[in-house]
Amino acid sequence: MLHYRAVSPRTSAKEAQRAVKIHEYQAKALMAKYGIPVPKGGVATTAEEAGQLAESLGGRAVVKAQVHAGGRGKAGGVKVVTSAQQAQEVAAQLLGRNLVTHQTGPEGVPVRKLLVEEAAAIDKELYLSITIDPGAQGPVVIASEAGGMEIEAVAAATPEKITRVAPHPVIGLYPFQARKVAYALNLKPELVRPAADLLLNLQRLFVEQDCSLVEINPLVVTKDGRLIAVDGKINFDDDADFRHKEWESLRDPEQEDPLEREANTYGVSYVRLDGDVGCLVNGAGLAMATMDMVSTVGARPANFLDVGGGADEEKVTKAFTLILADPRVKKVLVNVFGGILRCDIVARGVVAACVASRKSIPIIVRMQGTNREEGRKIIGESGCHMQLVDTMHEAAALLK
Ligand code: GDP
Ligand code: MN
Repeated sequence: MLHYRAVSPRTSAKEAQRAVKIHEYQAKALMAKYGIPVPKGGVATTAEEAGQLAESLGGRAVVKAQVHAGGRGKAGGVKVVTSAQQAQEVAAQLLGRNLVTHQTGPEGVPVRKLLVEEAAAIDKELYLSITIDPGAQGPVVIASEAGGMEIEAVAAATPEKITRVAPHPVIGLYPFQARKVAYALNLKPELVRPAADLLLNLQRLFVEQDCSLVEINPLVVTKDGRLIAVDGKINFDDDADFRHKEWESLRDPEQEDPLEREANTYGVSYVRLDGDVGCLVNGAGLAMATMDMVSTVGARPANFLDVGGGADEEKVTKAFTLILADPRVKKVLVNVFGGILRCDIVARGVVAACVASRKSIPIIVRMQGTNREEGRKIIGESGCHMQLVDTMHEAAALLK
């Protein structure tokens, strides 16, 4: 089992976590159990059902595509409707299609379910989340009065609008910390207490349910002065799956990345990221360091991949094939420290995958450790165009 929480601050926690993801409607059901106010509504799998749900809510409703990705609003996956008829029409357009947002690949993810909820009359959109801060090696509450947009964009443009508070890793969030966050949100005095209570409930959910992320964006202040979680996202920490048998039934494999699913079937730790440098590494620590190095020179990793210490040639071949199969990969970096996994095994696997794929992109290989010379020889004589380097420095220079 991997401990991504040890990841260094440069590799964002959001990217490196191998999380169990669930849908918004499931996240909101969990939030409701913890006393967090969420809109009234239900899930529809057909256009007719969506129409009926909107009807039961009085006609005015929000129809929301349920996919394991954010950015749905901008991508047309969230629509405010004013009648049951319109809800049905919107639903018919969304269901069965793939939704492409900036968080999905170009192929998008299928929409099979819609959440139909009462529409909130929005006065203000806030941001509230709890995640793991890899630098601090503990949880962190992140809050902002600039909600509704990507928190990364807020952090870049107006960092002063973001408040961070670290709950005590054992005791949890102190009430005074929750109040501090509530004050930072610039709320009317009568909403400070409800906001602080909401945050304390969210923190309890985060810990008790073994989450790696809980995010409410936006947390809305309605025109009639109530707080309500208009969006809800929860990721679970997969290291805790042994004590959460219920997670299996919450999963939606259709939403999962096909490459990640495939990698899991042959026991390779693979997480798809959104850069273009494919990385094949042995050992989670070296894989993390490699991703940091890629980021440091201004390039972006396309994946995290740890073939593991006990890999054989076949497993390396499969892992490398997976990297080459990703259309976003424009360069590849192989970084291996041969120990239990010998360099010659890696070289054979990489060459086999390379010959089979016939994709011609730059491949940079750094191999050190057991059977290094033999590995280099195999690569040198393979006829594949790969650039052999000795150090991480040389590899980095080639990625710029
Ligand atoms: P995301 O884009 O995937 O994060 O989906 P959200 O659930 O956050 O919805 C995107 C945006 O749609 C929100 O920031 C709101 O501006 C808008 N929206 C969502 N629900 C409602 C609602 O009930 N009423 C109104 N007026 N706008 C909504
Ligand atoms: Mn949102």
